Amino acid sequence: ADGPESDLAVARAATTRPIEDVAADLGLTADEIEPRGDGVAKLTQSAVRSATAGEPDGTTVLVTGMTPTPKGEGKTVTSVGLGQALAGLGESAAVAVREPSLGPVFGVKGGAAGGGYSQVLPMEAINLHFTGDIHALTAAHNLIAATLDNRLHQGNDEGIDVRRVDWPRALDVNDRALRETVVGLGGPARGVPREDEFVITAASELTAVLGLAGDLADLKDRIGRIALAEDADGDPVTPDDLGVTGAAAALLRDAFRPNLVQTVEGVPALVHGGPFANIAHGTNTLVADRVGASLADYLVTEAGFGADLGAEKFMHIVAREGIVPDVAVVVATVRGAKRHGLEMWPADFDALAETDPEAVRAGVENVRRHVEIVESFGVPAVAAINVFPDDAESELAALESTLADAGVPVARSTAYRDGGEGATGLAELVRERAGTGEFAPLYDLDAPLREKIETVAREVYGADGVEYVDGAEADLDRVEAWGDGDLPVCVSKTPYSLADDPSLTGVPEGWTLTVREVSPSAGAGFVVVKTADVMTMPGLPARPAAEDIDVDADGNVTGLF
Ligand code: ADP
Ligand code: MG
Repeated sequence: ADGPESDLAVARAATTRPIEDVAADLGLTADEIEPRGDGVAKLTQSAVRSATAGEPDGTTVLVTGMTPTPKGEGKTVTSVGLGQALAGLGESAAVAVREPSLGPVFGVKGGAAGGGYSQVLPMEAINLHFTGDIHALTAAHNLIAATLDNRLHQGNDEGIDVRRVDWPRALDVNDRALRETVVGLGGPARGVPREDEFVITAASELTAVLGLAGDLADLKDRIGRIALAEDADGDPVTPDDLGVTGAAAALLRDAFRPNLVQTVEGVPALVHGGPFANIAHGTNTLVADRVGASLADYLVTEAGFGADLGAEKFMHIVAREGIVPDVAVVVATVRGAKRHGLEMWPADFDALAETDPEAVRAGVENVRRHVEIVESFGVPAVAAINVFPDDAESELAALESTLADAGVPVARSTAYRDGGEGATGLAELVRERAGTGEFAPLYDLDAPLREKIETVAREVYGADGVEYVDGAEADLDRVEAWGDGDLPVCVSKTPYSLADDPSLTGVPEGWTLTVREVSPSAGAGFVVVKTADVMTMPGLPARPAAEDIDVDADGNVTGLF
């Protein structure tokens, strides 16, 4: 009850600074930003270019977490809180997080702009359309799809095999009715009939491409080599083959530029990009990270899910592009630890609300494992206990002391309730530990794909080995034949266990990772390794969040969270 009323109420009550002043904190002049409505600006193209010209010299703090419950353990809240705390200690700090997707905003999870006194503003704008980046991605994605179907209609000079088109259509909405569809019905004037599917825009390879492109030239190169389909000879058909690379890149010209907003306490925040964390790497854009780590002394950036997924992908995919974490924060909660201690799946949040310090203590092994994963890359780790209003002191103490006894540097964060002040201890630990390690990836890019998958399975997930089923072996051969064998791997796995089965809690042992499908994301620059059916077009729940969202006659939006 002493916590904030609602995220929206906190957002409404906050006094924000002019965005020019926020930009000035990063050394950006008014000419280097382009205002996009109250409290929102895009960096200009030349500001992006000069900010990313050299090696970023700020300290990069990666925020990751333990194996989460489906509600999330508070990585975004902790990222924003930590940025505010560092600023409170007199450091120049910037926070980088992903742009919310409309799917979760209207579905179950809500927006992704943090919460309480650790959120980014203006939350209505950020959650609804924002600067149009995701719409631009949707448009560019569907332009490529339309071009491909047009080539089929115009005589198919490329010899595209209509049974082997792997470029869906995209929309930013949860709509299960579009998962499988047929296009081109209605006779010769209406195209070539073929099976098609829709994905949510966050799952488009273009979203991953935008997330990893270093500059506009690199963006074009990456778009140009996306494998859209196979031709009759079994070779990939790309946007370059279709002549549509330039137009797609032109649609993404402005989306490429990071968006600048501020936190509740006026700290600069870059909200940019939004790739899925399973079939893609799941973090804000590389360009936003590079801008943040160049213009601020501390960049706090968030990776999706637990350290097994988000941090591993950050280390193997993003760090390779020039943004190496100097320290990582592993976010843990009482309820998260308790779930593992109770070996509970699915998560029953009423049962998790029962005070049970013994169960918390038993679940700490999961947090420790995520700390070890981070440290296996040579990146020093700090555990953050994200304190929820109903956590019992006995449980918080159990979590804290068990971690401390195991030698893990740990601090509580009450940043949700108290803003930056609630994360001061965490910020001090982060400052102390930053830069004390030496980063090294777990595998070399020139290792065979099977070896790279094996390394992630054994060394990160703790599997005994890897089993390939269905067409996965043939897929691997095809990826290598297409020349993509030297890319890093991006494993799509349940986030709710270190293993590939969400009912295996704690630190599962004696299991084998099952790989079902392997496909190249040659534009993004990784090979997707699927261990289960991945939902690339989510559905809405029985009672979508959309039913609570409204706008009044004055234009005030209600019901967002
Ligand atoms: P993640 O980024 O790890 O998925 P978020 O930071 O988005 O997690 O938090 C998940 C949800 O829980 C959000 O709705 C957020 O507002 C809420 N939340 C996070 N931390 C707290 C806290 N300490 N107290 C209350 N609610 C919280
Ligand atoms: Mg988050």
